[in-house]
Amino acid sequence: MKTGRDVTQTGLYASSCCLAETGLRKDAMFPRCPKCLALTVWMVVTTPVAPKDKKAA
Ligand SMILES: [Zn+2]
Repeated sequence: MKTGRDVTQTGLYASSCCLAETGLRKDAMFPRCPKCLALTVWMVVTTPVAPKDKKAA
């Protein structure tokens, strides 16, 4: 997800350039990297509804 794109899922994201983590909400816009202020690509760190770890609760 690049800077300027819409956030499709609320969660914690990290910039690919500096690994600066920031929480973003759905329908917000991906910002520039908060550290180096460059256009960047955001990687998902965690999402609150990701059912990837389905252990017995
Ligand atoms: Zn950066």
